[in-house]
Amino acid sequence: MPEDPVPEMREWGVVRPEELERIVIVSPHLDDAVLGCSYLMARHPGATVVTVFAGRPEEYPDPMERWDALCGFVPGDEVHVARRAEDETALRVLDAEPVWLDFVEHSYLERERWVRPPAIVDGLAGAVERLDPTAVFAPFGLANPDHDCTHDAAMLVRDRLDAGISWFCYEDTGYKHIPGLLAWRISKLFRSGLWPTPAAVPVTADHERKTRAVGCYPSQLLALEADWQISVKLAAPAPEQYWRLAPPPDGWGMLSEI
Ligand SMILES: [Zn+2]
Repeated sequence: MPEDPVPEMREWGVVRPEELERIVIVSPHLDDAVLGCSYLMARHPGATVVTVFAGRPEEYPDPMERWDALCGFVPGDEVHVARRAEDETALRVLDAEPVWLDFVEHSYLERERWVRPPAIVDGLAGAVERLDPTAVFAPFGLANPDHDCTHDAAMLVRDRLDAGISWFCYEDTGYKHIPGLLAWRISKLFRSGLWPTPAAVPVTADHERKTRAVGCYPSQLLALEADWQISVKLAAPAPEQYWRLAPPPDGWGMLSEI
């Protein structure tokens, strides 16, 4: 009797080990990758985190802007230096390496000067390409303008780079609980023909190690607690779900129209 062919569905959700040989995580700010991808980094030592908004504004305002004030910074502090140091320490806990880009967060800029995706794409594409990744993890990019911008820029980078790279989105910790926003982004990607689908990425769900890494951002935790009750969400403990971005299976595309 002829053997049954292996059904296509056996592969859905599966991530092949070779896809995860060289992982790059794109982070909007100096903390988002650790908040959303610690278990991934714990399982795959040597990942690189490229943080987009790690630059210094021309001037720090006096008084400090709201977020920095919540973080406990005071006039005269070099906030980006302190935050980069936090990031370096946190990533060391997870055996990961930082790469910092010099874009400046929207909160320091007049609205018309906010950094937009086309301004980022060359720098981000170059940084990612130099790392020769097999997989890139980008944020869904929810609510916060820097997150939204980072997501859109990452999608432009995806269009440019080698089609052999696997792409995933991770859920923005804190922001994913804003009503409807994760659903909105997933629906938007779905309708664009890039179907986000939960992937069974091997991780090490070491909550203690994640807590230690997250604890390396004491300044950010103050503001994240004030605005988002971050401790409740991290204590749940919230899962880290990664979603593969890929076109639909042959013949399924019409679902995007319904
Ligand atoms: Zn952020």
